[in-house]
Amino acid sequence: MTAGAWLSIVVVGIVAFLVGRTLGKRAGQNSRSAEAGNAAVAGTDAASSSARFQSLIDQLPIGVTLIGASGETIAKNASANSMSGVRHIDALVEDAVERLAASTPAGTTNESQLAVAGPPARNYALMASRLASGEVVVFADDVTTRERLESMRRDFVANLSHELKTPLGGMAALSDSMIGETDHEVVARLAERVASEAQRMSAVIDDLLDLSRIESRADVRFEEVDVATIVNEAVSLQRLNADGAGIHLEVETLRLDPIRIDRTQMLSAVSNLVENAIKYSERGDTVKIRLSNGNSVKIEISDEGIGIAQGDLERIFERFYRVDRARSRATGGTGLGLAIAKHAVENNGGSIVVRSTEGQGSTFTITLPRGGAR
Ligand code: ADP
Repeated sequence: MTAGAWLSIVVVGIVAFLVGRTLGKRAGQNSRSAEAGNAAVAGTDAASSSARFQSLIDQLPIGVTLIGASGETIAKNASANSMSGVRHIDALVEDAVERLAASTPAGTTNESQLAVAGPPARNYALMASRLASGEVVVFADDVTTRERLESMRRDFVANLSHELKTPLGGMAALSDSMIGETDHEVVARLAERVASEAQRMSAVIDDLLDLSRIESRADVRFEEVDVATIVNEAVSLQRLNADGAGIHLEVETLRLDPIRIDRTQMLSAVSNLVENAIKYSERGDTVKIRLSNGNSVKIEISDEGIGIAQGDLERIFERFYRVDRARSRATGGTGLGLAIAKHAVENNGGSIVVRSTEGQGSTFTITLPRGGAR
C-alpha cells in the first residue's frame, strides 16, 4: 500500500479518534453530573470505537505518531512506540519525526528521508500531514529491507550487463578483425575465439535461466528420493572433469530411507559444489564427498584446494560474486553456481554452510531435514 493510501485511512481514523476522545471526555463529565442520558451512550460508543481504532492502527507495520499543535506527542501506534526508546537510533527517529511535524504548515503534506549509517544501517521514509485541527500525523516507515533489495536489484542489473557485455565486446572485436583477413589460419583462430566467447555468454544465460527457474519455485516437484543416488549421479557427472584436472574423487555414501525432495534441483546443487571443489583444487588433490545421517541428512563436499579468505566467505553465495575473477573465467565459471546451489537447497527445506581456510581447502555442507521438504 502506498504512503498516500495509509495516510487517507489513518487520517479518517484519527479524526474518529479525536472525536472519540472529545466525546469520551464530555461523556465522563456528563455522567459525573448524573445527566448522562443519550450523550453518555454516544460517548461510550465513540470511546469504544476509538479503542478499536487504536488496536487497528497498532497492527500497521509503519509508525504513526499524532503530534499536537504545540508540538506535544498525543498518541502513537505500536510500531511508533517500538521506534522510541533509549537507543541512539530511536532518538534520531524521534527527532526526525518532531522536526518534520514542526516544519509542516497547515493543510500540507511533507516528506523526508532518514538514513542512519549504523551499524546496523537503517533507512526510514517519513511523511507528515497537518490536519485542519492543527494536529500533525507523522508516518515513519522502516524501508531498510526495501532499500537493500532495490540496491541488490541495481547491482544485479549492473553485473549482468557487465557479464554479457564483456563476451559480446570480445566477439565484436574478433569478428571485426576477421573482416578482410585472407590468411585462413588466422581466420580459423579468430573464429575459434568467437566460438569460445559465444559459449561463455551462453553459459551465463543458461545459469541465469536455471537460477530464475529455481528462485521462482515454478516447477518444484517433490518425490521420495534416496539421497545416495543423487550423490552418485553428481559424482558420475563430474568424473570426466575430475579426471581431466587430475583430481581424485573419494565418495562415501550409505543407504538411507528415501526423503521427499526435488531430484533435479538437488542434483544441480550437489553437482555444482563438486564441480567447484574440482575447479578450485590443484592437480593431485583429493575431493571427498560424504553422506551422513543423524538428526538430519548431511552431504559434505570437501577439497584441499585454494580455500576462501574469511572476508569473502559471506559473499560467495551472491550472484556473480567471485573471489578471483580471472581464475573463475579461466575455468569457465559464471559466478552463479553457488547462488543456484543455495536456492535449490533452500527450496528443499535445507541449508548450505561453508568452512574454509585459505591455502588449505574448503568444506561445503548441505543439511536437509530428515523427512525432506514439507
Ligand atoms: P564460479 O562460476 O565463479 O565458480 P560460483 O558461484 O560457483 O561461481 O562460486 C563463487 C566463487 O566462490 C568462485 O568464483 C570462487 O571464488 C569461490 N569458490 C566457490 N567454491 C569454491 C571452492 N570449493 N574453493 C575455493 N573457492 C571457491
